[in-house]
Amino acid sequence: MNKYKLKLFNGVSIVGAGLAGCEAALQIAKRNIPVRIYEMKPKKFTEAHKSPEFSELVCSNSLKSDSPEKAAGILKNEMLSLGSIVLESALKHRVPAGGALGVDRKEFSKYITNKIKEDRFIEVVNEEFTTIPFDIDKPLIISSGPLTSNALSSSIEKFFGVKSLAFYDSISPIILYDSLDKKHFFRASRYDESEGDYINCPLNEEEYKNFISELIKSEKTEFHSFEKIKYFEGCLPIEIMAARGEDTLRFGPMKPVGLINPKTGERPYAVIQLRKENKSESMWNIVGFQTKMKINEQKRVFKLIPAFKNIEFLRFGSIHRNTYLNSPGKLYNTLQTKKNKNIFFSGQLTGVEGYTESSAMGIVAGINAVRVFRNLEPIQFPLTTAIGTLLDYISKEDKKDLQPMNINLGLFNIEKPKKNIASIVSGSKVEISNIIQTIK
Ligand SMILES: Cc1cc2nc3c(=O)[nH]c(=O)nc-3n(C[C@H](O)[C@H](O)[C@H](O)COP(=O)(O)OP(=O)(O)OC[C@H]3O[C@@H](n4cnc5c(N)ncnc54)[C@H](O)[C@@H]3O)c2cc1C
Repeated sequence: MNKYKLKLFNGVSIVGAGLAGCEAALQIAKRNIPVRIYEMKPKKFTEAHKSPEFSELVCSNSLKSDSPEKAAGILKNEMLSLGSIVLESALKHRVPAGGALGVDRKEFSKYITNKIKEDRFIEVVNEEFTTIPFDIDKPLIISSGPLTSNALSSSIEKFFGVKSLAFYDSISPIILYDSLDKKHFFRASRYDESEGDYINCPLNEEEYKNFISELIKSEKTEFHSFEKIKYFEGCLPIEIMAARGEDTLRFGPMKPVGLINPKTGERPYAVIQLRKENKSESMWNIVGFQTKMKINEQKRVFKLIPAFKNIEFLRFGSIHRNTYLNSPGKLYNTLQTKKNKNIFFSGQLTGVEGYTESSAMGIVAGINAVRVFRNLEPIQFPLTTAIGTLLDYISKEDKKDLQPMNINLGLFNIEKPKKNIASIVSGSKVEISNIIQTIK
């Protein structure tokens, strides 16, 4: 990649022809602005990408639920209204997958690749993009994904500063408050007699031993060969801790010390603690519960905890290689970097999690790169839209470390979001149609 050639290009440059890069490119091209995409495939592949086609789905072929009543469905409807190529292709190449939007991955990618290659405003350069020109004065969108090449990762770290990228995700599940069984938890902070900040879900000895035994037996997701990582002792998957000995978790994240159950006046045998994820307290994170259990196993095993009988997960636990901007405050909610408003980040690199969420960030970056190219104010998606809640989550400066996030109802900061679903859906529709009027 020749950075002088890049600077002279009178259009929008994009790094990566993945889900986000393709969404962005087509948003820009349909507004008659030249686009140049740098994609290193097929000369160089990441550890997970195998196909020369664009918008490759590297793992599952599911884009999750498209029910209009679920957060993932609300997000999809917004994206469809904004002209998402990823969803257009997914719906054309849908395969039966229960309530989820499953796709024929080959046909899905082929369709998008053709759209990109046939567009007269888009030029594809098959080169690895290695260096960010910090002073570029035309829009540049970096959407090189969770497996961004090493050279570009180093350049991103130079741009933002050391340790601005996280390389592994160690993710604990997040659950919906309304789905907890209120009879089976108490609020308390360790060693504090007043009602504390944590939700504590107690287990007696029998419940604890049964939980540990099912945890050990549960089916786990295998690591890819490139993911043979050494775990940090401070954030081991719970099933690895459980396999080290029956009491390991009871002396680790499930320790009951300093906690008295006000309902019994006693210290429980073990405790699962939940920490709030948002101000409205609709989303709670299971403290220290990073796991490689398969999703169906997470549903089955966690239901053994008395407070979790009817639990609804907003995000499942996982551990995988994932490069993303690790601290908020680097991006505006328009996806522009604070260091140079011509440089945008998009896709999974921004700290969202998932195919659909990454694609949505591509649409936003594309729309806003057009605005910047035309010297117009970029669009700020309001918090009444699913897209706006994701942008708010990744850009807000109130967190120390950013944990990647799927779209979920808890992000809407509305009390009892499940009960208010109709108003969330109608609020989203009104705002997106206002945005469409503005952007044309
Ligand atoms: C192993 C793995 C499995 C995953 N499984 C799932 C799943 O099952 N379901 C789900 O919803 N999400 C999954 N994700 C998360 C995420 O949704 C996907 O990775 C998604 O493809 C991200 O979209 P993106 O556009 O940000 O990046 P990508 O789709 O990865 O696109 C990035 C593109 O940039 C190119 N590139 C990288 N570096 C450079 C460079 N320096 N120069 C030029 N080109 C470059 C790559 O070749 C690639 O084509 C997974 C992630 C990983 C890493």
